[in-house]
Amino acid sequence: MLFWSKINKGATEGDEKLTAANKRLLTGIHRLQFEPLPRTKVHSSGMEKLPMMGRRIVLFPLPLLDYMNPMFQLAEILHAKGFSISIIHTNFNAPNPKNHIGFTFHPISDGLLASEASSLDLITLFDILNVKCVAPFRDRLSQMLSDALEEEPIACLITDGMLHFTQTVADSLKLPRLVLRTSNVSSLLAIAALPLLRQKGYLTVQDSQSELPVPELPPLKVKDIPSVRSSNSEAFFQLTTRVCKGIKASHGLIVNTFEELEDPAIAIVRQDFQIPVFAIGPFHKIIPASSSGLLTLDKSCIEWLNTQAPKSVLYVSFGSAAAIDEIEFGEIAWGLANSERPFLWVVWPGMVRGSKGSHPLPDGLTQMISGRAHIVKWAPQEDVLAHPATGGFWTHNGWNSTLESICEGVPMICLPFIADQMSNARYVTDVWNVGLRLEGKLERGEIAMTIRGLMSEKEGKEMRERAAFFKEKANLCLEEGGSSYKSLESLASHISSF
Ligand code: UDP
Repeated sequence: MLFWSKINKGATEGDEKLTAANKRLLTGIHRLQFEPLPRTKVHSSGMEKLPMMGRRIVLFPLPLLDYMNPMFQLAEILHAKGFSISIIHTNFNAPNPKNHIGFTFHPISDGLLASEASSLDLITLFDILNVKCVAPFRDRLSQMLSDALEEEPIACLITDGMLHFTQTVADSLKLPRLVLRTSNVSSLLAIAALPLLRQKGYLTVQDSQSELPVPELPPLKVKDIPSVRSSNSEAFFQLTTRVCKGIKASHGLIVNTFEELEDPAIAIVRQDFQIPVFAIGPFHKIIPASSSGLLTLDKSCIEWLNTQAPKSVLYVSFGSAAAIDEIEFGEIAWGLANSERPFLWVVWPGMVRGSKGSHPLPDGLTQMISGRAHIVKWAPQEDVLAHPATGGFWTHNGWNSTLESICEGVPMICLPFIADQMSNARYVTDVWNVGLRLEGKLERGEIAMTIRGLMSEKEGKEMRERAAFFKEKANLCLEEGGSSYKSLESLASHISSF
């Protein structure tokens, strides 16, 4: 999950690609915009639709795809638990009410022009939303609370952690607020530690020290600290400090993860934040795939996967925002070709900086990869990862992609670009041991070697076995008596107790 943006202008040589990619990332103009699709519920046990409880929950998502989708998944999960759902949303990136039958929708004026919003970097956008939304949000919520006196009582408010101003509003209206964190708990620990890390001088270290470990935050290295690569690190620091303060003052934290994956980090957050933590994920295993958008899901890749041998294909996707330059595109393409392994690659229009449409493959490559490669603009990722032919995932380690890969037992090649992707990759390689990391400058020889290591060699086989272990845990945690099942029960009781 893309969590923050902008990286240090003075990033290390090996990180040139990060700087370039991040510049691209900063301009929302290139960000893919999506509309959450209507969902068909496939509840696991305990998710049968319950009669309405006579309690309403108000949810307020951050108006960006990566943040809206998990919020709507959560809304559907709670709706299935018997709560009525109201959504407050900004006019910017407004959701389509037709996609969520049974919810009520309450727009507020954010004062943002779509053109303005799409040209802002994420931190600035978050800061603006935290200012411009205060009055309209407070007015709308206050109106809903007084209307609810005659209708159905509102039990609580659930908002994205980034919308930290909502804590003050909720307090002033005496309404309990819970926070949804759309990324994981381990990366929350990293941002919560920023004041300490700053005090100790980690945030201003030389590039030459970026490989040093951070003993206060194992297993992270200096380069994995969220703000180390940020050119507006002060704004990021202020934002995350407010976010953490808002979480600490809330009535609880809901996270799209599961205990078996992040048990130690969850225990630390429970202790340090002194609030209940509800790890109820993986959401996508409770409520199926959600996102579509400007790009149509290309289902041809499933037909193509059907023709491939079991566990033979490397799936390659860097999410919806990470962009690469022409040279990197060439190195990736040749690395894939030279690996001599079948691959399925997502290249969305504009993913290569400077190209508006689809980017052509380097000369001479098409013939070389004929019969063992399939390139699409946008894939049905969850189906791809669940397909028996998929044996590995080369990913940027956005939290959704990382979690989806873990849940299907698919080992990863990690190429994190920014933000929580850095710590996600570190956990994948050093804690869960289900992936290899590509470090430094992208180079075709290194890429081919890493692919062969993951897809064919003993190391890759061991990672696949460990990934299968987590896949089993991810399935079990949602079964009756499983950790996420119990957490969801606790969350429903917690909300009902307000
Ligand atoms: N995704 C998809 N098809 C693609 C590429 C990505 O459906 O071809 C989905 C993927 O399943 C995941 C989301 O897009 O749910 C990407 O989220 P993530 O947090 O991994 O990365 P971000 O796009 O936020 O950088």
